[in-house]
Order: sequence, then structure tokens, then C-alpha cells
Amino acid sequence: MLEEQLKASIRDVEDFPQVGITFKDITPILKDPELCHQVVVEFAEQLKDIEIDAIAGIESRGFLFGFMLANYMNKPFIPIRKQGKLPYKTISESYKLEYGQATIEIHDDAFESGQKILIHDDLLATGGTVVAASKLIEKLGGVVAGYSFVISLDFLNSRGRLTRFSDQIVTLVSYNQ
Ligand code: AMP
Repeated sequence: MLEEQLKASIRDVEDFPQVGITFKDITPILKDPELCHQVVVEFAEQLKDIEIDAIAGIESRGFLFGFMLANYMNKPFIPIRKQGKLPYKTISESYKLEYGQATIEIHDDAFESGQKILIHDDLLATGGTVVAASKLIEKLGGVVAGYSFVISLDFLNSRGRLTRFSDQIVTLVSYNQ
């Protein structure tokens, strides 16, 4: 089963980037081309009934499978990046981190008003990042078509934060603790 294969591949790194965090390292998945292919095929299968015009991936690990998936599904890929990285005209959204705040940006011509955008990131933790990404999509007149994550930390109970944008949430690996 794909979830078991992924769990066997994902590496837990304790106390990274700070004490108390168990970091889910997906780089071992990236070393396995067949497993990467299966990830993309599985996402595409689970997303096949959702209308999607483009896929937005969040810097930086959201670019990895986000771009592969967009290309596999023959959809445009849109990068959402940290402040100051995108070269053209941008709009931005700030959100709170555990300590301090972060700002993400999207090009203001990333898609046409009314288009349906799937938001992709490697991992759903508190949901703060994808809520901010969802606000960017709506500010540009888009509709959040759904979300895809390789990993969901279900013990943080953050899915409820996303449902006001879309209840289409695809995850391949869930952790309950
Ligand atoms: P959040 O905004 O809390 O949902 O955090 C999600 C973002 O932080 C994603 O872009 C993840 O890559 C990263 N992240 C948060 N927690 C972890 C973790 N335990 N392991 C790996 N990445 C994480």
C-alpha cells in the first residue's frame, strides 16, 4: 500500500528546526523515482473528480510534487513564494507563526479571475500557511478548488481551518501522533 511505502521512506528528524519539533523529511522519497511517480499518479487519481484550472505550490517543498503533479495533469503551475522572491508584480499575505510572522506572495497575473486553483504543499501542520495561500487565491478573484498534501499531521486538527475555502482535501500519509 502506498501509505505504508511512504511511511517507510519518510524520515523523522527530532528537534529540527527547533527543539520539540519532529521534522518529517521527504528527501528519501525524492531519491526513489518509482515512488515519486506513484505519488503523482495517486494524487491525480484522487483529484480526478475535482475541477482544477491550475495548481499552486508553496515554497519550497510544495514545488516538488506540486510541479510534477501539475505537469502530469497537464495544468499550469503557479509558485507561491516567500516575500521578496518573485520578480514581477505581486500581492502578499502575512500570517502568524508560533514565534513571529511570515509573508507569502503570488504574481498578480498568476491566473484569471474565476479560475479554480488547487493548493499543494508537502505537509499540513497547523494550516496557517495554506490558509494564507487560500487568501491570496481569493484576493486575486480565484476559487480554491481543493488541497493536496503528501503528509497530514492529523493530531493538530487543522483540517477544519481549510473547509471554509474547500472541503476537498487529499492527503496520502496521515500521522495521529
Ligand atoms: P503549517 O503552516 O503549520 O501548516 O506548516 C506547514 C508548513 O511548514 C509546510 O510548508 C511544511 O513544509 C512545514 N512544516 C511544518 N511542520 C513540519 C514538520 N513537522 N515536518 C516538516 N515540515 C513541516
